[in-house]
Amino acid sequence: MADHYNSYSLKHFAGIVADCMDISLPETYAPSVAWIPALLKERMNGTADRAVLYHADAVGHHIWQKYTSLFAPVYQHTSLSVPFLSTVESVTPVAHATMYTGLDPEGHGILTYTRPQLTCDTFFDVLLREGRRVAIVAQADSTFLHIFKGRALDYFEAANAVEVQEKALELIAKNKYDVISIHTFDYDNAAHAFGPESKQALNAVSLEAEGFHRIAEAVRESYTGHKTLLTYSPDHGQHPVLGGTGAHGSKMIEDMNIVHFFGTIV
Ligand SMILES: [Zn+2]
Repeated sequence: MADHYNSYSLKHFAGIVADCMDISLPETYAPSVAWIPALLKERMNGTADRAVLYHADAVGHHIWQKYTSLFAPVYQHTSLSVPFLSTVESVTPVAHATMYTGLDPEGHGILTYTRPQLTCDTFFDVLLREGRRVAIVAQADSTFLHIFKGRALDYFEAANAVEVQEKALELIAKNKYDVISIHTFDYDNAAHAFGPESKQALNAVSLEAEGFHRIAEAVRESYTGHKTLLTYSPDHGQHPVLGGTGAHGSKMIEDMNIVHFFGTIV
């Protein structure tokens, strides 16, 4: 049987989140996938006024297929899992630029692994125009800190996924941001070094999933009186390379197919 590519492009990500928050986007953005926010809004009986968007880098669909139980901490706080298709090339800056601009790579201009500051409109710019308070929490040298820099939002960086998660917990407890985007890449690092299904890489999937769980618990505790959209949203996968390491950037199904999880906390 031939490989199958997932059907939904990552370019719908901003549209879906905006739709959950009843924020309208400029026409340059790809539209929402209407049934997803419709279900989520039904479940929270209204519109999200908060969002916590967790980006676990490079966790592919095939990891979810083969090691499903590792995602139990994510399932605990989400109600939908939806297959998505990464960008060409399937690398971090191309994919995250597409997610946060609603544009194909030709539209935002990042076609390969380069990390210029984006000058086109991003979902962060939309949120700021709407008066929302926004933070990015990411591992040092994260793509988020390059391509989305220069905005009137708060940027936090930390050395590794656990420290990023700790910072996110601290910010959630302070209850001062409407939207927090979190980017960790311990899995990406371990998969590159030891292979996508290595013990080290699978441990990192768990570490990032358990961090997501702790973040969701913090939202439940601190965001009382709010409706919060929670997503677990990887950018691409990784495929094994002869010799035991991992790579991505190709059109291989292991690089292209990913799964996103959506949840609501009210
Ligand atoms: Zn990535």
